[in-house]
Amino acid sequence: MINLIDYLWGYAERHGIRCIWFDGSPDEEPYSRLAKYNSKEILVNINWKHANLLPFKVGHITGHLEHNDNHLNEELLKFDRDKIEKNADLYAAGLISGYALKNGFNFTTYRELYFKFGIPLYLLNC
Ligand SMILES: [Zn+2]
Repeated sequence: MINLIDYLWGYAERHGIRCIWFDGSPDEEPYSRLAKYNSKEILVNINWKHANLLPFKVGHITGHLEHNDNHLNEELLKFDRDKIEKNADLYAAGLISGYALKNGFNFTTYRELYFKFGIPLYLLNC
């Protein structure tokens, strides 16, 4: 998983997104923020209790930042918010699938790939 996280961080940084580890409580999810001069940052809690979901979450946040939208934006109608969340999920799935392809992972089905990397299986039906 470390190589995948490095890959995702490299991808984010090539797209102008800075990734920073922080030492938070196990309940604190990774999140994004706009920093000085509107630079984009992803803050990743090194202690997050769902470490196996970390790559997917970083990919999901990267998707939001690339599309200039916000995670779980309460100002939007549920339909629009759900669509944005699904797009961020698909973005993450695409990044991780690209990593698997480039690194010679061999899966018989997408289900195996998704399961291995913590990608939600509902995306198989999208
Ligand atoms: Zn989101």
